Amino acid sequence: MSLLGEAPSARVREHDAGSAGLRDVRLCQVPTCRAFARRRIEIELPAVWEGSATFTVLTVEVGACDEHGPDLERRAGAVVEARADLCNLLTIVEGAVRIETDLRAQIDLLAARRG
Ligand SMILES: [Zn+2]
Repeated sequence: MSLLGEAPSARVREHDAGSAGLRDVRLCQVPTCRAFARRRIEIELPAVWEGSATFTVLTVEVGACDEHGPDLERRAGAVVEARADLCNLLTIVEGAVRIETDLRAQIDLLAARRG
């Protein structure tokens, strides 16, 4: 049994870089922020979202201001943690499904003996 389906659809917004122009890399890369980027934030993006215990990431770096930098770091860390937890969560869910299946089989067996 596989509990792996399609990844939930991400909210993706496409930007037409040609008409809007590229954002000045000296600025914080949060689009609504006009502050200068004072720190470089590494964002690790998992290559795949499946049950494997190990995974590779694509790392991108973005500039951020002092206000948005810590939030970006926290959110980027949460993505990697969620990906790392995925294997354990799938194992737990699959174990629960297996137990439920065994219990249903035992109930059916007892019902058949009584019937
Ligand atoms: Zn900012």
